[in-house]
Amino acid sequence: MTDWMLSPELAALRIRVRAMVDERIIPAEQAILDEDARGSRETLKGLQAEARARGLWTPHLPEDFGGLGLGVMGMGALFREMGRSPLGAKVFNCDAPDQGNMDLLLKTASPAIKEQYLRPLCAAEITSAFCMTEPAPGAGADPSNLRTTARKDGDGWVIDGHKWYSTGGENASFLVVMARTSDDPRTGSTMFVVDRHAAGVEYVRRIPVFAPDVLDHFEGEFRFEGVRVGADAVLGGEGQGFLLAQKRLVPARLTHCMRWLGLAARTLDMCRDYVGARKSFGKRLVEHQMIQVMIANAARDIHSGNLMTLHCAQMLEQGLDREARPYSSMAKTHVARTLCRVLDDAIQMHGGLGYSDDLPFGRWYRAARAARIADGPDEVHQMVVARDYMRGRLDVLV
Ligand SMILES: Cc1cc2nc3c(=O)[nH]c(=O)nc-3n(C[C@H](O)[C@H](O)[C@H](O)COP(=O)(O)OP(=O)(O)OC[C@H]3O[C@@H](n4cnc5c(N)ncnc54)[C@H](O)[C@@H]3O)c2cc1C
Repeated sequence: MTDWMLSPELAALRIRVRAMVDERIIPAEQAILDEDARGSRETLKGLQAEARARGLWTPHLPEDFGGLGLGVMGMGALFREMGRSPLGAKVFNCDAPDQGNMDLLLKTASPAIKEQYLRPLCAAEITSAFCMTEPAPGAGADPSNLRTTARKDGDGWVIDGHKWYSTGGENASFLVVMARTSDDPRTGSTMFVVDRHAAGVEYVRRIPVFAPDVLDHFEGEFRFEGVRVGADAVLGGEGQGFLLAQKRLVPARLTHCMRWLGLAARTLDMCRDYVGARKSFGKRLVEHQMIQVMIANAARDIHSGNLMTLHCAQMLEQGLDREARPYSSMAKTHVARTLCRVLDDAIQMHGGLGYSDDLPFGRWYRAARAARIADGPDEVHQMVVARDYMRGRLDVLV
């Protein structure tokens, strides 16, 4: 394990996270999934307690919220290790969408909202959801289609609208809801914290999807009818919605890349074990050049995705938020496609075993396929990269 670009402290923390993932979380994956299907979280809770005891809980948060105060580079180093198990981020309370919502509330919520929702979220006593996307003709890949509205009413606001793909919304205690508050293309939206069980919040359904429903990763659909919130439910300020969406989504997108890289790297390790041992046509699979090509391509793509992600993390750490945007788009499309391709090739290299549920590749692939759509589809990120390159905002030789 090399520690390129990491301080000695981060390198040491990385080893501790990796040890917990390898020794405690990966061996418990099946137990966590089986218990979850039965509606119990005993093993998960035990591991969460252990992560706290080991001093590895929510490392991205400031110390007064129970974390280690790490910046984006620190998250880059540790989230990759957590991501080697699809359940890892949940154990350390660094999973999406909660982790992105923690960062957002930390920077923008009123003191009262922080006490009511952020503290229990940081302690994993509650979960949350982020409600931006709407069914057609509302906001999807293009947020300017936003239809959900919020209008001022006395001291507070009244929200009406329809949202879907609110990951984790079913079990969440609160929702971050993006709503239209004027017709201005830049300042026309605002984000609100809404109690999941407030009057007028209707949970329509759990959307049936390609990926298995695991832990809180259910896709929820909501209707909001005359939902009243107080003035302090506004995040940041009136009209800040589009700006905050960028501020939340750029680092959140990178944290996805970090987790996906971890899972892709573990998948490739599993391929190494199989093709290094299995014999076919008189030699080990790895001695066939077509297998070598799949291994080499996966190694190249994971490595380049890692460099893109860390480069972008470093920009964010330096406060270059606007400049980092096209780099985050490039990293996101590259790493999402890499994860899908690495898993698809892993199934191929493992043959019938790879296709069977004796190995987790099928389950992981079905979840990974969303990576090319969620947080903006590939095409929209490619549009951003091309646009910013043409405007001279993207230097390909950094
Ligand atoms: C598993 C999963 C979890 C999600 N979690 C959340 C969540 O927690 N909160 C939330 O708010 N949203 C969430 N989303 C929603 C996600 O962000 C949207 O699905 C995504 O932004 C695309 O919007 P859409 O589905 O409406 O697609 P549409 O806007 O209908 O686009 C459909 C397709 O058109 C193509 N397209 C769109 N624009 C362009 C363009 N400019 N150029 C070329 N092609 C284009 C793309 O291929 C795109 O996939 C989630 C989605 C998934 C799949």
